[in-house]
Amino acid sequence: MTALHLRGVFLPEEEQRDAWIIDGRLSFEPVSDADTIAGDGWILPGFVDAHCHIGVTTEGWADADLQVEQAVLDRDAGALLLRDAGAPVDNTGVQRREDLPRLVRAGRHIARPRRYIRDLGVEVEPQDLVAEVEHQAARGDGWIKLAADWIDRSVGELTPVWPDDVLAAAIGRAHELGVRVAAHTFSEAALPGLINAGIDSIEHGTGITEDLLDEIARRQIAVVPTLINIDTFPEIAAAAGEKFPAYAAHMRALHRSSRQRIRDAFEAGVPIYTGTDAGGSLPHGLIRDEITALVQAGIPQAEVIAQASWRARNWLGFTSLTDGAPADLVVYDEDPRQSLATLHQPRRIVLRGRIIL
Ligand SMILES: [Zn+2]
Repeated sequence: MTALHLRGVFLPEEEQRDAWIIDGRLSFEPVSDADTIAGDGWILPGFVDAHCHIGVTTEGWADADLQVEQAVLDRDAGALLLRDAGAPVDNTGVQRREDLPRLVRAGRHIARPRRYIRDLGVEVEPQDLVAEVEHQAARGDGWIKLAADWIDRSVGELTPVWPDDVLAAAIGRAHELGVRVAAHTFSEAALPGLINAGIDSIEHGTGITEDLLDEIARRQIAVVPTLINIDTFPEIAAAAGEKFPAYAAHMRALHRSSRQRIRDAFEAGVPIYTGTDAGGSLPHGLIRDEITALVQAGIPQAEVIAQASWRARNWLGFTSLTDGAPADLVVYDEDPRQSLATLHQPRRIVLRGRIIL
């Protein structure tokens, strides 16, 4: 295979340099006869969609062909590493394709009967949670996913799904197995139990209040807000309003406070990553929309880009553009920390050393 050559400003080092790609990997040692694929521009590790669902659509589940289409949409938007936050179908076919983003899977959602989207998760009662954690830990790639709050229709409000002692046992068991735990939460009430139990990442996290921030920051618990999905809360509220007015009012309030709360979390030092929640209610390929939403929420653009790229890669255990690292990179005409428009016109996308664009 012919070596490739690129020159530009590498991030995060912000260093103008030459690099070569041989056998899918980056090298800073000159190689003769290489094809130059970029002569200037800004070069950074591919973006990370830290919360999406390969295999879920608005209409149901996606077969292998549709899963490929979903992954292609993400890839072509610049997301070259995906954390799948729970899928009801086998999506490992995506992992066998060299031309599709790297995929870190969390197995199936673990939920409680009548307390989550029907059939999406494996449904168990609290006494069976630890056993199910063990089962899903063996199916995923170092992560499992819990549905930790949902509407309780008998109460007409969001309430925590699992008792605190059960959460502590389940998350403790996952950690013994070397697996990290992500939890879906919208409400305020579900968070203290999760935080005390040692949760690793809070998904959505619209209930994060001021009094919890110091502890979340101290433990460096990740938050993946999925702001573009939180923007569907008013629709959820409208659909539920007549039957469950308290729940609807709560969902509207969580939507209204979502930007302030995520900004407060950022300012408190909480690591915030970029996830679209593509699959259930949103299409794939929206990483740039989520980046834009986080910037519009008031998080400095340079921080959003860092979290969406090299910091999220590091968090998930992947390298960035170091000597010998896999060549998973994007090239833009302008510095994406200055220009969001440039994200919509990538000059190059390279994945595992292959030219995608
Ligand atoms: Zn999700």
